[in-house]
Amino acid sequence: MSKRVRHSTLIKKLSKWQKVLKLSDWSIRIRFSDEKQMGPNNVALLVNCSHDENAAEILIHKYYYKENGYRTLFNIDTLIIHELIHIILNKKLDSFPKMILKNKKFHNFEEFICNHFAIIIYHVFHEKL
Ligand SMILES: [Zn+2]
Repeated sequence: MSKRVRHSTLIKKLSKWQKVLKLSDWSIRIRFSDEKQMGPNNVALLVNCSHDENAAEILIHKYYYKENGYRTLFNIDTLIIHELIHIILNKKLDSFPKMILKNKKFHNFEEFICNHFAIIIYHVFHEKL
């Protein structure tokens, strides 16, 4: 049987990574969601991100509720770090032309950066390199 990740664990992890990424002054909610809200290709999603209010919400696909269940390639920590990097990037990207932000190649590039550095930050922090 797979072990369930508690919501309190999510909150603890979020708080830890907010500190590491210097986002402690942000009010970030985190909760499990489903495909209806997130779309079929998202495992985690940043929504309602406001740099004016330092507030955002992170949705984690509910299948990640199970540590050893469905889609175990990802871990909750790197999913959270990934979304927090989006927050940092969003501030700079706000000034970019909308045309660029909507470009599929640019979007893939941003996802690459978030994935790549989420894994590096996770491993450096845990000295697994
Ligand atoms: Zn992303």
